[in-house]
Amino acid sequence: MLVLGLETSCDETGVALYDSEQGLLADALFSQIDLHRVYGGVVPELASRDHVKRMLPLIRQVLHEAGRLPADIEAIAYTAGPGLVGALLVGASCAQAMAFAWGVPAVGVHHMEGHLLAPMLEEHPPVFPFVALLVSGGHTQLVRVEGVGQYQLLGESVDDAAGEAFDKTAKLMGLRYPGGPEIAALAERGRPGRFTFPRPMTDRPGLDFSFSGLKTFTLNTWQQCRASGDDGEQTRCDIALAFQQAVVETLLIKCRRALKQTGLQSLVIAGGVSANRSLRQALEKMLGELGGKVFYARPRFCTDNGAMIAYAGCQRLLAGQHDGPEISVRARWPMDELPSCE
Ligand code: ATP
Ligand code: MG
Ligand code: FE
Repeated sequence: MLVLGLETSCDETGVALYDSEQGLLADALFSQIDLHRVYGGVVPELASRDHVKRMLPLIRQVLHEAGRLPADIEAIAYTAGPGLVGALLVGASCAQAMAFAWGVPAVGVHHMEGHLLAPMLEEHPPVFPFVALLVSGGHTQLVRVEGVGQYQLLGESVDDAAGEAFDKTAKLMGLRYPGGPEIAALAERGRPGRFTFPRPMTDRPGLDFSFSGLKTFTLNTWQQCRASGDDGEQTRCDIALAFQQAVVETLLIKCRRALKQTGLQSLVIAGGVSANRSLRQALEKMLGELGGKVFYARPRFCTDNGAMIAYAGCQRLLAGQHDGPEISVRARWPMDELPSCE
């Protein structure tokens, strides 16, 4: 089954063609980062308008790259939530209009299910069951995954998401948006041991996270340094390293707990923060010691993309699921409300 996937939940227009037999045929992405950067974050109305502009050229591009025609498309998958409503509506409207015109089914995909299944596009995909750590700009969740649509939430952030913490911390130190890659780059040159930041909520049982205190801790540290005239590049690097180490170790402690609690030995990490090299290395080391394995997508498929939506949609279509003709999206959408594909 040849599926066209559309992603428009936030500030990336992603389009891909995935075939259930041949795999991923093409994927294209337009990132709006430069459009939003001057505002220090995503401006929803600008995002929606830009998705409108980019969608059709990107669809033409993937068809061209894959050497396929519109008539070859057998179904359309689009992100139906969670995300920015205006942005989601662009993808949903496009998908439903094309599905109607071409007489093919459309299926709304949960954005976080897309992230969660993205490692399935890699050469050595994970096998169910596994524990998934979803770490993105809007989510930090530990999920027990038995199959497609069989998700049990084990824990989540009670305030900021991990990616959000990276973004806000970067902003307060005057770094560019998005903050994750900026902090990661500075941390490479940081001196270990100069600062030590707290590992929030690791001293009590449970699998929930909290990252907003860490951001405040960074702010205080940065302000103290500035007050004493110590606000140069090296100090920024040192703070970035201390912050990143705190986030990575906090995530690691909770992942270890989740694996122990579930008795599972496979860990999938997905979402933008799973592109972080230090996080990958730390988890790989931990899983190596436990005799387990960690799985993640190539960096391009950790952040938002159309390929993950085409893949997730294809699994649901193959299980016989699809939408009616109405255009409906959800800003909030708990993942455990999804139907199973069993
Ligand atoms: P959600 O998926 O929860 O709706 P989103 O789509 O905005 O949110 P993603 O696209 O999955 O989030 O990821 C973007 C986030 O990932 C940003 O917060 C960004 O700072 C972070 N990020 C990207 N690369 C890295 C990195 N190398 N290290 C840490 N964080 C990173
Ligand atoms: Mg984004
Ligand atoms: Fe995302």
